[in-house]
Amino acid sequence: MKIICIGRNYAEHAKELNSPLPAEPVFFLKPDTCLLPRNQAFFYPEFSKDIQYETELVIKINKVGKHIQPKFAHTYYDEIGIGIDFTARDLQQKCKEKGLPWEICKAFDNAAPLGKFVDKNIFSDMQNIDFHLEINGKTVQQGNSKDMIFSFDTIIAYVSQFITLKIGDLIFTGTPAGVGPVKINDQLRAFIGEEFLLKVDVR
Ligand code: ZN
Repeated sequence: MKIICIGRNYAEHAKELNSPLPAEPVFFLKPDTCLLPRNQAFFYPEFSKDIQYETELVIKINKVGKHIQPKFAHTYYDEIGIGIDFTARDLQQKCKEKGLPWEICKAFDNAAPLGKFVDKNIFSDMQNIDFHLEINGKTVQQGNSKDMIFSFDTIIAYVSQFITLKIGDLIFTGTPAGVGPVKINDQLRAFIGEEFLLKVDVR
C-alpha cells in the first residue's frame, strides 16, 4: 500500500506557511514505513528540532482504480479516518529553499500515525466533517472538510490520472490552519466530531 498526502488543501494553512494557493491538487507520497501502529508511542527523531503535527482526514481506498471520473470517485472509499502528517518543519524549510524533494521531512519512519476509521455513511455530507486535535487535553487544531480547496472526489479523480489507486491505499487530505510543534511527553488525541479515534504519545 501507499500513502498519498495532499498539500495546501486549506487556504488558511497555505497562508500560515506563506505558500501560494494551488490551482490543482498538490500531492506527495509517504512509504508504508510511515505508519505508526495504533496506540504506540512516537519517538522524537534526532535529525529534527521542529517536528510539527498536521491533523488530517484520511480516506481509505476500497477498490482498484485508474482515471477515475469525479462522479464515480465516491464509490472508491467507504471509510474515513484521522491521521497526523508529522513534518520536520526545519528540514522542510531547507528543502523548500533549495528546491529539493521532501522525503527527509515528510517520509521518515512513523511520520503517519493513523487512527481508527469510521463508516462514511454516518456523515450526511462529506463536505461538512468536523475534526480536531488535542494536545495534553487542550484543543490545538480544528478543521472542517467544507474548507478544503479540493474535495475528496476531486482528489481521487486527480491523483488517479497519474497513479493507480489500490485497495488499502490511504489519502491524507491536507491540514487546516493551526499546525504547530510537538515535544517529548506530549499526548496527542485526535477526533472526528466528538469521536476519539487516534492516540499518540511523544517520547
Ligand atoms: Zn499534510
